Amino acid sequence: MATNIVDINACPNKTISLSIHVVLDTADIAQATPTQIQNTVVVMNQKFSPMCVQFKICNYDTVPESIYFTKTSENYLTEMTTKYNIPNTINIYYSASVSGLWGSLDGSAGLTTSSNDNIRMKNPLFRDFMLINYSDLTMISHEMGHFFGLYDTFDNPSGVKEFANGKNCTSAGDSICDTEADPATFNATIVNCHLTNPTKDGNGDYYTPPVCNQMSFYPFSGCIKYFTPEQFNRMLNVFYTKRKYLW
Ligand SMILES: [Zn+2]
Repeated sequence: MATNIVDINACPNKTISLSIHVVLDTADIAQATPTQIQNTVVVMNQKFSPMCVQFKICNYDTVPESIYFTKTSENYLTEMTTKYNIPNTINIYYSASVSGLWGSLDGSAGLTTSSNDNIRMKNPLFRDFMLINYSDLTMISHEMGHFFGLYDTFDNPSGVKEFANGKNCTSAGDSICDTEADPATFNATIVNCHLTNPTKDGNGDYYTPPVCNQMSFYPFSGCIKYFTPEQFNRMLNVFYTKRKYLW
């Protein structure tokens, strides 16, 4: 991943089209309503306004084949996206299964953290594909972070853990320096946006992970999640270098 070559002030002033595809469950019921989804887009637009990018739902449909509700192997995903993707828009599928081929805890979006990224980006069907689990519709903002090249704050794609003091922040962890090192203590207890059971790194320093960052994964509510300036910078970089084809 190229580092920050685009200044946060480089405002694209772009509204990107979203195609929403709600996969019906096995009882033929849509488990997310258009209003619920639109509400999450409104919140996402607030979060993305500092980078001058907004999102607009331009298409909404339901996918009546419940087989896609339960199966997310590559064959099924290829079939579903072939039928329903609208080119040059971000195709967001709402389903129950995110643990398939490219699923993760939270959902799935092209240009994320795994070695599958390059494969995804070469296939337009998957390049513009996003999967959101019905169980948490607000994950759209987090997945959009992945879509524009952000790693989870706890990820370490280089295989090197970031020290709590951040001295290796450019090459370790999420390779973003204004997100604190995150040891991925998912069983953490958080009160008032602070860990009550912090852990130490190899230097003996306590981690103070960014528990309210949009790309962190701490299970609690009551905190407004945010992106940092460097995260915006990377997303702008990815927008200009890899995502400019989007309508
Ligand atoms: Zn994630």
